[in-house]
Formats: sequence, C-alpha cells, structure tokens
Amino acid sequence: MSVKTDVLIVGAGPAGLASAIQLKKLGVQQVTVVDREPEPGGTPRLCHHTGFGVWDFHRLYSGPQYARRYAELARSLGVDIRTETTITGWDDENALTFTSPQGTGVLAASAILLATGVRERPRAARLIPGYRPRGVFTTGSLQRFVDEQHLPVGKRAVIVGAEGVSLSAFMTLTGAGLEVAAMLTDLPRHQMYFPYAPAKWWLMDVVHRTPIRTRVRVQRILGRKRVEGVEIRRLDDDGVEVIPCDAVVFTGDWIPENEVARKGGLEIAPGALGPRIDGQFRTSQPGVFAAGNLLRGAETAATSAMEGRFAAASINQYLQGKAWPRRRLPIQVAPPILWSLPNSISADGASGQRKHIAFRVARFINNATMQVFQGAKLLYEQRFSHLPPNETMYLSGAWLTQVDPDGPPPQIRLSG
Ligand SMILES: Cc1cc2nc3c(=O)[nH]c(=O)nc-3n(C[C@H](O)[C@H](O)[C@H](O)COP(=O)(O)OP(=O)(O)OC[C@H]3O[C@@H](n4cnc5c(N)ncnc54)[C@H](O)[C@@H]3O)c2cc1C
Repeated sequence: MSVKTDVLIVGAGPAGLASAIQLKKLGVQQVTVVDREPEPGGTPRLCHHTGFGVWDFHRLYSGPQYARRYAELARSLGVDIRTETTITGWDDENALTFTSPQGTGVLAASAILLATGVRERPRAARLIPGYRPRGVFTTGSLQRFVDEQHLPVGKRAVIVGAEGVSLSAFMTLTGAGLEVAAMLTDLPRHQMYFPYAPAKWWLMDVVHRTPIRTRVRVQRILGRKRVEGVEIRRLDDDGVEVIPCDAVVFTGDWIPENEVARKGGLEIAPGALGPRIDGQFRTSQPGVFAAGNLLRGAETAATSAMEGRFAAASINQYLQGKAWPRRRLPIQVAPPILWSLPNSISADGASGQRKHIAFRVARFINNATMQVFQGAKLLYEQRFSHLPPNETMYLSGAWLTQVDPDGPPPQIRLSG
C-alpha cells in the first residue's frame, strides 16, 4: 500500500495534533497523522489526572479530556488520523515505511514532521542491581496498569524522582489507594514547580504528606518474586537504609523516542538526544521537521503543542517554496548545561530565529552568569539569580544576529 500526502506527521500527541490543526488552518490540503496507539492523543491519554489545557485552552482538563479535545479539533478540520500505524523506517528521504493491522506500506509526503515524544529510562537502563520482581514501573507503565488495564499494583510505593512527572506518579498511586512511602532524589531539594496558584497549594499538601528524601540514591531493589523494598544510599554520609515497599516507580530521566530520526540518519544533538533543529524546527534533512518532547525530554503538553504550531508555520513556508538552508552551525553547551533549544543556527538570516533559547542545567545553581562565545569572542552574557534543575529556563536570543556564519560553533557556558 502506498499513500502520498502533503504533510505526514509521526505521533498524534499534543505536538503532532496541534501542528496538524495549524497546518489545516494555514490551508494545507492533505495532512496525515499516524500513531502506533489505538487512539490519538499521545501521553495525556493515559494521564487520568488533571493539569492539562490551562495555557492552550484556558481550561483545566484531565489528560484524556485534553487528548480528546485535540483529536476532535483535528478531525473536524479534516486531518487524516491513522491509528495503530507504526512507522518502521524510511523508504527514501521523504517517504516512511509503516505497519498496521491492514498490512505494511509506504507513506510519502512533501514534508514530514517527527513528533514521537519521549519515554522514561526504565530500571534496567539505570543499572540498578537486584532480581526482576513484580512491582517495578515507570510512570508510563504504572498508568497503563492502573488507568488502562485496572490492574492492582501494590499497597506501598516508593517513587524514584521528585520532579513534575513524579507528581503524576504520586497522583496515580494515591488514586489507586496506595500509600507513598517516599519520594527519592539525589539532588538537595525536590524539583516540583507549579506556575499557577491552585496547583501550588495542592503541591504543598503533597510535599507535606510525603517524605521527600533528598541526597539519596537507590542502589538495589529487594525481593525475588515481588518487590519487598528498596535499598538506598545516603550521599552525604554514605549510610545505607532499606525502605520497605511492594512497588517502585522510576520517574523522569527522559529518553527521546528518536529511533525513527536515527534510522533516517538525522543529526542527533548530544545532551538533548533529539534531532538537531534550528529556530524553525528544521532538522538536518531537507523537508523533515521535528517538534515536541522528542526534541529534549518532557515539557508541559502546552509547550509541545506550541512547538507543533510553530513548526506548522515553518512547514507551510517550506511547502510554498522557501529554500532549505544549505549551511548551519551547531550551538554547543558546556556542563552543567544539559541542552539548548534550538541547538543549531541556520545561515539563512536571523529572521527565522527564536527570540529565546531554552536550556536546562543539571543541578541547582545560584547567581549564575550565562555567557555565549564564538571562538574567543564574547557575544552575550546574562545573569540568572537562580537556575533549578528539571526546569526549562530561557536565555535571550539577542546574540543570534551577531553569530558569524563562517566562524566556529557558538558555545553557551556558565562563567567561572
Ligand atoms: C506521566 C506524565 C504526566 C504528565 N502530566 C502532565 C500534566 O499534568 N500537564 C502537562 O501539561 N503535561 C504533562 N505531561 C507532559 C505531556 O504529557 C507531554 O509534554 C506531551 O504529551 C508531549 O507531547 P508530544 O506530542 O511531544 O509527545 P507524546 O504525547 O508522547 O506523543 C508522541 C506520540 O508518538 C507516537 N509514536 C512514537 N513513535 C512512533 C512510531 N514509530 N510510529 C507511530 N507513532 C509513534 C506515540 O505513540 C505517541 O502517541 C506529563 C507527561 C507524563 C509522561
């Protein structure tokens, strides 16, 4: 089976669907979105708690309500959504191979948007020793067990991680009637930030009710058939403790679902681990764009949706004949900066560049000065009173116009 469309979007999460909606609004005729899941909506479909839609719909939705809203909007505008359709590789530069219950085939398109999201690093990939007992989850697998398959998961859980997504695990566990014995982080403070007031009150309540153990690391999972506890090491005095529990949830530590991108030979940005993009969401391959969590790990759904919309504008310009930049410079970051977005600058003028560069750092840093160098030349510096880990911060993009396209890659670093 071979199908040709104007724009093919891989991933029917907020990024893919918001992009498809925007493309239809811009007048693009054929927009096809494929997803391997049986329903469109992406990750929010399985997050049965509230916390979605405030920024993009000005309403507070549960994940499934939010997913439905995007899917209904897309369908009402004529977007062709194909579920149970998994992209398996590339047929050529602008055609992808797929498999579905109807068989295999090729989907060709004038432009392709990759919006395949992220997954959490599972226990095995975190190199944590112990047997493989029942009761070990990621937030994603926990939510599938609890909310999709309605299976029991245990009575007393430990959450590994104390960031935004760990709260999602907390809500799922307490909603299923489990006690949360502790949230664990190797950092000196939790990293659960909530921008709007009602959520702040709620967050304070969670923090009050749950022991948050800071500066600790899980070093073993106990139990052979069923989890019996976790052994943790205190990083400050090297002491070892056991927390009895029958479920462990590993949260965060994101890995972009970059397999399709890698199979296509797209350049992958180190640190972010998603396809390298410029300020217009263009990857290293002409006609191929990328947006959403695939680019760098989990943000809010609204951020991914907004990126999808920006990418749509860029895709539309490409369909109308805008030339693909012939050259681009990578933007490099130095530790403790983990990644920046965009992570390259195209040599087709400053007009397409973003006003801000998003970035994350690996640890809490106070009174920091971020500097941008190109070779030995200081292009820009900006002070930050506080840089927290697991939260995206924004550096002004004022320096982008000063980059010499024939010079070395600009580098963002912390002074001192
Ligand atoms: C547990 C959890 C709780 C969260 N809670 C909140 C919250 O309360 N509020 C909030 O704003 N955000 C929340 N988020 C973040 C939000 O869900 C994400 O930011 C958002 O879903 C990202 O959208 P996306 O489109 O980039 O990726 P996703 O939503 O992950 O969608 C990617 C889609 O791509 C599909 N796909 C991947 N590979 C292929 C392939 N080869 N072929 C076909 N399809 C493929 C997947 O099936 C998936 O449907 C939460 C995230 C998690 C994990």
